[in-house]
Amino acid sequence: MSFDAVVIGAGLSGAVMAERMANVLNWKVLVLEQREHIAGNCFDENDEFGINVHRYGPHLLHSSNNDVWDYLSTFTAWHPYQHRVLAKINDILVPIPFNLTSIERCFSPQKATAMISALREHYGDGSKVPILELKQRVEPLLAELAEFIYRNVFVNYTCKQWGVAPDEIAPEVTARVPVVVSYDDRYFSDTYQALPSKGFTAMVSAMLAHPLITVELNTPMARRVRLDWEHHQVLLDGELFNGHTIYTGMLDTLVPDAQNLPYRALKFKHKHLNIKEFQPVATVNYPNDEAYTRITEFKHLSPTKHVGTSVVYEYPCEYQPKENVDPYYPLFTDSAIAAHCTYRNQLSKFARFIPLGRLAEYRYFDMDDAVANALKTFLKLQDQISFQR
Ligand code: UDP
Repeated sequence: MSFDAVVIGAGLSGAVMAERMANVLNWKVLVLEQREHIAGNCFDENDEFGINVHRYGPHLLHSSNNDVWDYLSTFTAWHPYQHRVLAKINDILVPIPFNLTSIERCFSPQKATAMISALREHYGDGSKVPILELKQRVEPLLAELAEFIYRNVFVNYTCKQWGVAPDEIAPEVTARVPVVVSYDDRYFSDTYQALPSKGFTAMVSAMLAHPLITVELNTPMARRVRLDWEHHQVLLDGELFNGHTIYTGMLDTLVPDAQNLPYRALKFKHKHLNIKEFQPVATVNYPNDEAYTRITEFKHLSPTKHVGTSVVYEYPCEYQPKENVDPYYPLFTDSAIAAHCTYRNQLSKFARFIPLGRLAEYRYFDMDDAVANALKTFLKLQDQISFQR
C-alpha cells in the first residue's frame, strides 16, 4: 500500500495533521505510534472501577480560539467544565490562582481589606498580575503580599517542578498563574472550557477514524521509517519515500551525535480510595512540603456514580532518556534553544519533512495551542501544494 504521508506520533498534533491530510487533501496517511494507544498525553481511559482517568495527568481543554473550538467540536460533544484549584498553604486550602478570597483566608480581616484596596488601586478590579511583576512593588502592603505569595505558592512548587527558582525560568511560565484581583476562582478564564463528553481518547479516535488513515500502534518509528543522512532522504520500509513525513517526537533522537535536549518529566502515582470524595475540587496543589506538586481527583472532571474515588499524584523529576519516564516540559535554557534550532536546520535538508508539536518544536503548548499550531501547519502545507501545482 502506498502512502502520501507518514505521521510519527498519534498525539493531538499528529491526529489533527493526519485528519486534515486525509479529509481535505484526500491523502492516504500512515500513522505510527510507539505507545499501545492513541491520543498522546491526553489519553484517558476507564480504570478498573469504571472511573475515567487521565493516565498522564489532568488534561483540560480551555481556549478562546474559535477555530480550535469549532474544529474539535466536529469530533466530539462537550461536557461543560470549569477547572478549580486549591493550594494547601499552612494547612489551609486557598484558591489558585491566588485571588481576593485567598487573601482573605491568609490574612487578618483588617490587613486583607487594606491589601485588596491597594491591589485594586494599583491594578484595577479584575486585573491579573504576574507574581514576578507584583514582586517589584515597593509599597509596604503590596510588597508584603507579593513576598507571601512568592514564598508560599511559587518558590517551592517551581523548584519541585522545574528544579530551579521562579526567577530562573522564563517569566511566561509563572505568569500562566497570575495573582487575580477579583473573586473569580476559576483556573482559566477562556471563552471555551469543557471536556469531551466521551473523553479525549474518543475525540482523537474520531479524528483518526477516516478510511484513508491507517494507525499502527506499538510501532516505534525506527521499525518502519529511517532517515538516510547521506542523501537526505526518508526511507519507508527500506524504500525511498517521496511523500510528506510529519514528525512529532524529539528532534535530538533523529540527529546523529546530537546532545539530549533537556526536559522536565513527571511520574504519576494513580490510586483508588474507598471513600466518596477525597478533596473538594478537581486539583489541590501542594506547593511546599510534599514531594508531589498536585493531586487530581477525577470524579470532579467527569461525573461517575461510583462510591469510591480515583486520584493521581504528580511527582516532577528530571527527564533521563532510557528511564521509564516521558519528556514533558522543555527546559528553555539558551543552549537548549540553540541546540534545537541547529537540529531543526539539519532536518530541514530533508524535503517534505515537517517537525510538529510540543516535543518536535520544543514548545510549552496547552492543548488548544497544539491544535491551533497543527491547523496552521496544515494550511501552510496546503498552500505549498497548491502553489506547486
Ligand atoms: N506554579 C506555582 N505554584 C502553583 C501553581 C503554579 O509555582 O501553585 C508555577 C509553576 O512554576 C508552574 C507554573 O506556575 O510550572 C505554571 O503552572 P500551570 O498550572 O500552568 O502548569 P501545568 O499545568 O502546565 O503543569
